[in-house]
Amino acid sequence: LLQLYGPLNFLGSVYSGIRTALVDLEHMLGLVDEPVEVSDTAEPVALTTRLSASHPARVEFRNVGFGYRPDRQILHDVSFVVEPGHKTAIVGSTGAGKSTISRLLFRFYDVTSGAVLLDGHDIRDCRQADLRAAIGVVPQDTVLFNDTIGYNIAYGRMDATPEDVEQAARLAQIHDFITSLPEGYDTQVGERGLKLSGGEKQRVAIARTILKDPRVLVLDEATSALDTHTEKEIQTALKAVSARRTTLVIAHRLSTIVDADDILVMKQGRVAERGTHADLLALGGQYAAMWAAQASDEGA
Ligand code: ATP
Repeated sequence: LLQLYGPLNFLGSVYSGIRTALVDLEHMLGLVDEPVEVSDTAEPVALTTRLSASHPARVEFRNVGFGYRPDRQILHDVSFVVEPGHKTAIVGSTGAGKSTISRLLFRFYDVTSGAVLLDGHDIRDCRQADLRAAIGVVPQDTVLFNDTIGYNIAYGRMDATPEDVEQAARLAQIHDFITSLPEGYDTQVGERGLKLSGGEKQRVAIARTILKDPRVLVLDEATSALDTHTEKEIQTALKAVSARRTTLVIAHRLSTIVDADDILVMKQGRVAERGTHADLLALGGQYAAMWAAQASDEGA
């Protein structure tokens, strides 16, 4: 797929739909080799794809069970609701099923039992194009096009003006970096241009998502540690993109989700604990232990 990006770049905006599909696929956490095994029903429901500001979506997982293969169940009876404009965080040890939840929301796979609903509609009954237009993903690692940095941001919304692009870049804390480059927004990036650091690429992804203005935001926090300054800039940028927006965060650092409306602690595909940060600390279970461990790591 990566080899396709170069040629596709020459085909212009006519193909932006195809490229959206490619990038969204690739966004979803290294799923490029996986077949998309879902299809639209004969008469799919049309979802509202209006911009998010006044229409944040409601997300619900209702008794969801899922396995990538029939012989290995990964999620067991997972239920939660993200109310419009609220933020839910998912934490848990590696392999607990966190990313699987984001893949099911994007409908890369269909659930085995239960249902995923957006605004009350089972997503299997919705047009996939609408669903994917409604959801914006800030992935752990963004692949950039071999094009200018301005183009890479504008890609979030092809009709954006240069002023829109700049405003998104400011909110994403990447504008000053871009203007410090000799060619500014016209700087070539990607394989054949300037290589950006992980933190810079993530801010480009955030700027792109600010432009897309999706009704649901999925943030997949980077596992790798960033330096404190970069971390702070990214957190500021993420705050800008998630404010008043329905947000699902897959979190690795608990310090970034203390303000979440709801936190789900996943353990072997089940929701083991849930509540606010304060609730979970008071519970004194797995979350409280994770919090204590991270606090002592950071202290060290
Ligand atoms: P991490 O924090 O390490 O990213 P996670 O909680 O996001 O972990 P998932 O990626 O959701 O975990 O994976 C849950 C389980 O599903 C794991 O046991 C994993 O091996 C399995 N799994 C993930 N993707 C696939 C796949 N494409 N095919 C088969 N099994 C998979």
